[in-house]
Amino acid sequence: MRQVLVDSDTGSNRTAAALGGPLLDVDNLHVEFRTDYGVVRAVDGISYTLAGGESLAILGESGSGKSVSAQAVMGILDTPPAFVTQGSIKFRGEDMLKMSPERLRGIRGARIAMIFQDALSALNPVFSVGDQIGEMFRAHQGMSKKHAKIRAIELMDRVRIPSARERVGDYPHQFSGGMRQRVMIAMALALDPDILIADEPTTALDVTVQAQVMALLADLQQETSMGLILITHDLGVVADVADRIAVMYAGRIVEDAPVHEVYARPAHPYTEGLIASIPRLDQKGQHLDPIAGQPPNLAHIPAGCSFHPRCPRARRRCSVDVPALMDVSAEHHSACHYWEEVVNDHR
Ligand code: SF4
Repeated sequence: MRQVLVDSDTGSNRTAAALGGPLLDVDNLHVEFRTDYGVVRAVDGISYTLAGGESLAILGESGSGKSVSAQAVMGILDTPPAFVTQGSIKFRGEDMLKMSPERLRGIRGARIAMIFQDALSALNPVFSVGDQIGEMFRAHQGMSKKHAKIRAIELMDRVRIPSARERVGDYPHQFSGGMRQRVMIAMALALDPDILIADEPTTALDVTVQAQVMALLADLQQETSMGLILITHDLGVVADVADRIAVMYAGRIVEDAPVHEVYARPAHPYTEGLIASIPRLDQKGQHLDPIAGQPPNLAHIPAGCSFHPRCPRARRRCSVDVPALMDVSAEHHSACHYWEEVVNDHR
């Protein structure tokens, strides 16, 4: 049972486990990049919560702010040029933005782990995968090399790398892209994190391997009470993994809803466009309908609704008034002036 909290001042929405409080509570987060060309508002007041065992997909095109928001949570933004200018990121009620560097180090990687898109460059080519997985135990738990190797094999088994005992001494280049991503997942899970952030974990993989890695993430999450944040540009990969989706555009959350609700009754034209551009296996050869135009330059975000230059439903008001995030239902929110029209078109 989840509870949605709507902040009437910021128009933000937050979903939390009804009891016990969330693992992660991101509230009104702003991140900007100060560059020679001006200030870029990469994340512009986003709010969400994540409960244990819950899976949230943060979805958006390149430049929407989804990865920057995840890097802010991990505390791995490059400052300068990136600065968190407002908001809070609470892990188990404690604001990470106010923690000491030592305390943060204890949380990052251990309590909140992250996997990235490019496993090959994230892994060290001169150490075996067993050494790299085992290093997590040696560095954080002072484990002996022998025991760390045993744990590495266990983890490789857990992420279903075949013949783990034989392959523990192999190097990253000896693994396929999908298997390297499993190695990254094994490293992320080594310390039994409370939260796993997966940033475009399957983008570099072919479709079949993508599905296998997503199924693995879903299975691993079911085995634990870990919260999962899946950062992706691909609405097609989240259906079987996510409980909820937050759709980001130009640094803001423009729609937020349970996953089945987003597919069945989108309430924002941008989400409609994302759904229309998903390839359908049952409609082979059918022309896809990608969203026209490009995402905005974040240094020059359009006035009013930032999506209006690309929106097929845009009207005069859209280029003037910024839409707040409004309640479509208790668990569904949209930042579109005309969300009722969008919803009615999908009844
Ligand atoms: Fe489109 Fe206007 Fe809604 Fe923005 S507010 S998504 S421009 S209809």
